Amino acid sequence: MPGHYDTATLMDIDFIHTTNEEFLNKTVYPCLAHEEKCFIVTANPEFVIETRDHPDFKEVVQHSDYVLGDGIGIINASRLMGNPLPERISGIGVMYRMLSHAAENGYRVFFLGAEEETSRQAVENAKKKFPGLNIVGRHHGFFDMRDASIPRYVHSTQPDIVLVALGMQRQETWILDHLSKFDKGVFMGVGGSFDVLAGKAKRAPKIWIRLQMEWLYRLIKDPKRIRRVMKVAEFMLLHIPVIGRILKFFGIYKKKPR
Ligand code: UDP
Repeated sequence: MPGHYDTATLMDIDFIHTTNEEFLNKTVYPCLAHEEKCFIVTANPEFVIETRDHPDFKEVVQHSDYVLGDGIGIINASRLMGNPLPERISGIGVMYRMLSHAAENGYRVFFLGAEEETSRQAVENAKKKFPGLNIVGRHHGFFDMRDASIPRYVHSTQPDIVLVALGMQRQETWILDHLSKFDKGVFMGVGGSFDVLAGKAKRAPKIWIRLQMEWLYRLIKDPKRIRRVMKVAEFMLLHIPVIGRILKFFGIYKKKPR
């Protein structure tokens, strides 16, 4: 596996110490060039809380090759823990860089997931955005997880990159379940990135991202996200050492029953 990294552990998840540039140059591009196989996870605070609440999911994530800190909450938590990660590595950012690299080098890409129309539009837009991009197949993401024809189809296209947008948990589980069937490929769960690529969902304007307020922008746009924001808040509180200890001491922070 190309690239060895130190890690910062947050709630049993090992995040790699790296930057966007280093990760692409030291791991992703060599993995593609040498036809190796790797499983990349991008995790934000909500994702980490989800792994705490679902031990099976935690195990899936612990079987991945690289976990990237996607979200300023992860970076801040690592700072508070005294083991700071150098920068945020966003899943969508890595996806765009991979697609650009694939277009330049003729790598074969598969898009798995999202609604049918989103999937179709995402492929169309990706081809426009990255001229020459070879998307060898696509499939929407609303299928039975046990459906063996899906991994068979993905495998038949001999992809170098498999981007999986089935929502967190489902996408990582799908990857781990089928990884052994493939001889090569960079596999990554990309969450809502096809929705952004298809123009269905917009990223926050740069100023919101720079002010570390992307979460607030998304909450205003979609108030149903409040549950998610609460999970992020819980994550942050648990990583302020004194507050985290007090919450745990008084049992305010409880592990959910398995
Ligand atoms: N999605 C899918 N199949 C599913 C659930 C979700 O293809 O069974 C897609 C959904 O259409 C979206 C992406 O997965 O394009 C991310 O979904 P969501 O934002 O709900 O997931 P999150 O990553 O935030 O959990």
